[in-house]
Amino acid sequence: MKQYEFWFVVGSQTLYGPQVLDTVAARAAGMAGEMSRVLPYPLTYKVTAKSNAEIAQVVKEANYDDSCAGIITWCHTFSPSKMWINGLSELQKPWCHFATQYNREIPNEEIDMDFMNLNQAAHGDREHGFIGARLRKPRKIIAGYWQDADVQKRLGDWMRAAVGVAVSKTMKVMRFGDNMREVAVTEGDKVEAQAKLGWQVNTWPVGDLVAEMNAVTDREIAQLMAEYGESYDFATGDVEAVRYQAREEIAMRKMMDAEGCTAFSNTFQDLHGMDQLPGLASQHLMAQGYGYGGEGDWKVSAMTAILKAMGEGGNGCSLFMEDYTYHLVKGQEYSLGAHMLEVCPCCAAEKPRIEVHPLGIGDRQPPARLVFEGKEGDAVVVSLIDVGGRLRLICQDIHCVKPILPMPNLPVARVMWQAEPSLTTGVECWITAGGAHHTVLSYDVTADMMRDWCRMLDIEFVHIGKDSTVEGLERELFLNDLAWKLK
Ligand code: MN
Repeated sequence: MKQYEFWFVVGSQTLYGPQVLDTVAARAAGMAGEMSRVLPYPLTYKVTAKSNAEIAQVVKEANYDDSCAGIITWCHTFSPSKMWINGLSELQKPWCHFATQYNREIPNEEIDMDFMNLNQAAHGDREHGFIGARLRKPRKIIAGYWQDADVQKRLGDWMRAAVGVAVSKTMKVMRFGDNMREVAVTEGDKVEAQAKLGWQVNTWPVGDLVAEMNAVTDREIAQLMAEYGESYDFATGDVEAVRYQAREEIAMRKMMDAEGCTAFSNTFQDLHGMDQLPGLASQHLMAQGYGYGGEGDWKVSAMTAILKAMGEGGNGCSLFMEDYTYHLVKGQEYSLGAHMLEVCPCCAAEKPRIEVHPLGIGDRQPPARLVFEGKEGDAVVVSLIDVGGRLRLICQDIHCVKPILPMPNLPVARVMWQAEPSLTTGVECWITAGGAHHTVLSYDVTADMMRDWCRMLDIEFVHIGKDSTVEGLERELFLNDLAWKLK
């Protein structure tokens, strides 16, 4: 993972004189250092901004520096906002306005006019907020005391969303074959996706992959087989089928790494020269942080990689998922998610088993795959769709449960969940919004983080949560349509 950091830019002005400005700078550096111990990424104090030139300069540097994933601004004192116009107008990195103050309490005995001059965030941040609103710059506003855990958690979540933007801007997706014949939702405007999200989505011939597979050595396969043995239980005697998956994984990884791709898609309709659909191979690549989308779904592939990068430790528990079937018993309403093969073992509640079974569709040999149950926990499912003229991201809150049935003859990994606000209203909302059957399911990315991510990238965000109604959603989508046509 690339190392990212965030820059702390503190607003002031020369009016207060060097003594106050030195205090502001020292406190800001101290706050950044202290918060960096708990935030998921370092917060680096950059400057106490006192002039138009200083602000324009730090914004130029932030735009240029690939390791800077965003800036956090705060006004310790008043900082006249016309000074900020030139800089903020040029800002290309995510921006969070952190409305905090150095002291938690108003000190009864100590407070005098000197104290008031030094500690004026309450009105400094209002001036700063005005210029953000006036310039209509996308920004996140977080208010609260900088030492409070809930405030630091919100800052950290915003940082993760901003890292999702940085990852998006450099995303390269390797497509093996086109998307599946006649499927609509896996289509989309790749030029729009690149202009808005930065994604480079391109195709490589399956024949090149087969040539790369043929060049994989026995030694390389043995090494990866040993790794499989450490991470998974072998529940098959068909070692050759597993070795074939290792061969596929090594070849795909080499091709992706050579091109700097961190996500890929394939389709079982185009496996020319391959004996098995990659199952275990795709699953183990996902476990290492690569994005994947089945049936040529390059959008969900890129989103899987991005949500993984936004999660815990830069490779969180986010996975390619597909809604398969429902359990519609009154009071026990669940969705069962799975895929033909490719469920990432990051969500496994138990040690995954390597099994070999026929596919049921397609015309290839039975592929090796990991079979397991998904873990319990609050999660979201996310779908990015192209609605013509713009991209829409739909995010639904769900609660994953231990699957209520053992399903001993189901030969794939499975996740079971309850959807908000309920299974049926959730389905009605999801279908109304046009959400895909493919999603990214994430245990550590939240709807708030996805909302921030969409704001930073200027795409439509739709949230389905506990308060959602179909009527409300229809109104929201209607107004969104109007607003986006006016944009
Ligand atoms: Mn699928």
